[in-house]
Amino acid sequence: MNLLRFILLVLAIWLIFRIVKRYLNRPSKTSSRIPPEPSDMVRCEQCGLHIPKIEAVRDGDRYYCSRQHLEESKDKHSL
Ligand SMILES: [Zn+2]
Repeated sequence: MNLLRFILLVLAIWLIFRIVKRYLNRPSKTSSRIPPEPSDMVRCEQCGLHIPKIEAVRDGDRYYCSRQHLEESKDKHSL
């Protein structure tokens, strides 16, 4: 019975160690995933909404929040 308890204790410590190790490894992975310039914002030419440059739809030197607004802006300019 004492041996079984000892084995269970060792198993519990091993499991805790693994969980802690995994928990400690996580923040370094998420921090490296953040883009270098998250504050780089652009304004949608159609509705004026501010959106991250990486998410914006680009047309020359103009930026749009969505492809739909790009098309709407093109229709407005061609008329
Ligand atoms: Zn827009």
